[in-house]
Amino acid sequence: MALRIEQFPVLNDNYGYLVRDETSGKVACVDTPDADAIAAALDRLGWSLDLILNTHWHPDHAGGNEALKARYGSTIYGPQEVTRIAPLDHPVTAGDTVDLGEAQFTVMDVGGHTLQHIAYHDARDAVAFVGDSIFPLGCGRMFEGDPVQMWSGLSRIAALPDETKLYCAHEYTAANARFALSVDDAPALKARAEAVFAARERGEWTVPSTVAEEKATNPFLRAPLLAERMGLAGHSDPEVFAAVRKAKDGFKG
Ligand code: ZN
Ligand code: FE
Repeated sequence: MALRIEQFPVLNDNYGYLVRDETSGKVACVDTPDADAIAAALDRLGWSLDLILNTHWHPDHAGGNEALKARYGSTIYGPQEVTRIAPLDHPVTAGDTVDLGEAQFTVMDVGGHTLQHIAYHDARDAVAFVGDSIFPLGCGRMFEGDPVQMWSGLSRIAALPDETKLYCAHEYTAANARFALSVDDAPALKARAEAVFAARERGEWTVPSTVAEEKATNPFLRAPLLAERMGLAGHSDPEVFAAVRKAKDGFKG
């Protein structure tokens, strides 16, 4: 057990992540929302940057690749789509592994927000970096993929061990909670939403959450249970998921 995770807010509502394998001293950042903020965090910690792990091509995830690579000589892993906007050294796809010293990340396909969106799962430390695929009580907008693809990706996340911590890229939880309460009345959701609102009032982060929490309260993972409420009894899980996603897209909370 030797993975240290440094989390810090960047841009409007993103989180930056630095991950250090304490055995080897190797350091990675997950996505590059803001090169200057990441460099400042590295300076503060006295670390260099061995690896960059991209989850998808969006500028608030890969926009800092070039500057950080120039400064630290980092090696960049990510889906091929990252080359649309940024340098990439090693394209990776589902099932590939990326070593950070003694720690190892397995690449998961969680496409849908973008077609090639991936997550990085470290089973030993029970953590997954999920980018914009799943958020506490929410999920990413389906910009490029279709409901079957996105539902498959979310189902893979739901299949991880319950205790797995999910590190996503944005603090959207309060808005997600307001939407969730509009489509689901599970007691566990009500309790969690109240805790989220209180935490945000205190200025606290709600990320990471766990697979167990999301399975119990996230309306996107719970879509099959909401079929009747959505007027879609008897429809397939991806169809119900798509309806929940569409409702969220139009939700003015
Ligand atoms: Zn994105
Ligand atoms: Fe994002």
